[in-house]
Amino acid sequence: MQPMVAEILDGKRLARELHAEVKKQAEALAAGGTRPGLATVLLGDDPASQSYIKSKIKACHEDRIESFHHGMPAETSETELLELVATLGGDPRVHGILVQLPLPAHIDESKVITAIPPAKDVDGFHPANLGRLGLKGAEAAFAPCTPAGVIEILERAGVTISGKRAVVLGRSRIVGLPVSMLLLRNDATVTICHSRTADIGSVTREADILVAAIGRPRFVTADMVKPGAVVIDVGVNRVDDASRKRGYRLVGDCDFEAVAEVASAITPVPGGVGPMTIAMLMKNTLTAATVR
Ligand code: NAP
Repeated sequence: MQPMVAEILDGKRLARELHAEVKKQAEALAAGGTRPGLATVLLGDDPASQSYIKSKIKACHEDRIESFHHGMPAETSETELLELVATLGGDPRVHGILVQLPLPAHIDESKVITAIPPAKDVDGFHPANLGRLGLKGAEAAFAPCTPAGVIEILERAGVTISGKRAVVLGRSRIVGLPVSMLLLRNDATVTICHSRTADIGSVTREADILVAAIGRPRFVTADMVKPGAVVIDVGVNRVDDASRKRGYRLVGDCDFEAVAEVASAITPVPGGVGPMTIAMLMKNTLTAATVR
């Protein structure tokens, strides 16, 4: 039998499309007197967090969303941070608030997330927004950006979700659980696997849509994938690579080349789900500005 060659779902291209749509709608909103605004808050100088924030501010500029950035020292107290969040919550120019995670250990993350008004919670981590995601029929204000990006890729690639068997590897608050709830909202039959799941391969082989979000390099091998399945690889893992100047390269949770011979479509890492995450943040900010 000839090996199948999966369609590569190009997240960069899909994200470009989405950014262009957001920009057009942001310009239309601004012409009507409402310029969408996103406030970003970063405590400390962690290089990875700084780089994420930089990309988000850049995307704001490109998509015609006003950016209000607040860089604060790592020693900022919880009270000071909560005061800033309250001020941003009451600022009519700010439609979305994003506090970059993780926060320093002396700050209670859940307290800060809960202090963001749900209508401005464009990261989608407020318990009210996460809870609504699980209630079919209830309006979910915002879905977390990476899980929403997964659904956006499936939709833009023309993949039917309704009626399909979907298996999600991982149950984190940021990716696995919300992506499972979104698939369920879209009428898939969903199974979630985690570190205590026995014989994961027997579960993943049932999947028409397989979402891998566990943070284990090349965990999903070809024999774990049903022929013709659509595979969305959320994982981003560093593996040593002496041939690269920086000494490592990024790989996903799937053994990409081998899985691509079995699947009908697959997202690459990098260049798959990653670019969609910031695009979804811009989309959520636009939505926040539109519904007010
Ligand atoms: P996380 O919080 O560490 O959660 C990992 C999940 O995978 C947990 O539910 C864990 O199960 C499960 N797991 C771990 N090892 C497993 C194994 N051997 N078998 C089965 N399940 C296992 O990670 P996360 O934040 O969800 O991120 C997952 C991956 O996505 C990471 O590689 C991360 O870098 C990537 N990511 C990418 C983006 C993006 O592309 N924009 C955004 C966010 C995250 P338990 O619950 O039982 O511990």
